[in-house]
Amino acid sequence: MSLLVVGSIAYDSVKTPFGKKDEVLGGSALYCGLAASFFVPVNLVSVVGEDFSKRYLNFLRKRNIDTEGLQIKKGKTFRWKAEYSHNLNNRRTLATHLNVLRDFKPELPKNYKDSKYIFLANLDPYMQQMVLDKLSNPKLVACDTMSLWIETKRDSLMKLLKRVEIFIINESEARELTAEPNLIKAGHKICNLGPKMVILKKGENGALLLSKSFKFLSVAYPLEAVYDPTGSGDVFAGGFMGYLAKQNKLTKSCFKKALIYGTILASFNVESFSIERLKRLNRKDIDKRYKELRRLTHF
Ligand code: AMP
Repeated sequence: MSLLVVGSIAYDSVKTPFGKKDEVLGGSALYCGLAASFFVPVNLVSVVGEDFSKRYLNFLRKRNIDTEGLQIKKGKTFRWKAEYSHNLNNRRTLATHLNVLRDFKPELPKNYKDSKYIFLANLDPYMQQMVLDKLSNPKLVACDTMSLWIETKRDSLMKLLKRVEIFIINESEARELTAEPNLIKAGHKICNLGPKMVILKKGENGALLLSKSFKFLSVAYPLEAVYDPTGSGDVFAGGFMGYLAKQNKLTKSCFKKALIYGTILASFNVESFSIERLKRLNRKDIDKRYKELRRLTHF
């Protein structure tokens, strides 16, 4: 099985207490697609400008990521700038220049239309729905969002939530969306909005999966050196959905393992800026850390 990933590709400028990088490769679809490609072939739907480096396109293709659905439009690639607080838990967005992403109309190449596993990475919820309209018979659709859309496109986001099985969201965004301070109650409220399952990402406190029939919790992998959390939510989702697509089974056991693989992929991503750590990663490293997390939490 392959995974269809829709979202942004960006040039990010990021400052953390441990350094600063300008105009490095980023974007929700880029991070997610790269993480998922450790498990399955990825079909990427996104848009970049004419300034996007051919070197990066070649890199994606070498990584089992199909770029037929990647539009190259006149204009500049999406740019995003952010700064993190000392403990890396808070982030301030300093600039969002949508550029070619502003009028993005996702198109699906013919062979993407019968995709079974779909991840709608962070993007305007209207655009995320445009993709759903073009699919013939999806088996599992998951999506992400961010505060910006909760605040500016709430109605559209609510419509989207009625059409997805899994919603992957940060704890602060879950509280904002539901106006509910208790995270478990917020999760249940989200399940009443449409999704059968919600995954609440809690940064260094792990992730919690909630559905009407079961709950499952993962701690974060303990790390001494964290440099840049950018994209970890997307990488988590890529690991989670990539593993599920590979198994092509939607059992409780698969969901639990997928949550752990998402956690492990995200732990590698935060070890460097941009996709530097993911570039050097291989499946052996992933499975080694997966076993280590099991050893650390089993009692
Ligand atoms: P995360 O740290 O998981 O929230 O993801 C950060 C990534 O999301 C960065 O690489 C950004 O380029 C991308 N991003 C930030 N704002 C937006 C937006 N409004 N739409 C789509 N992608 C975005």
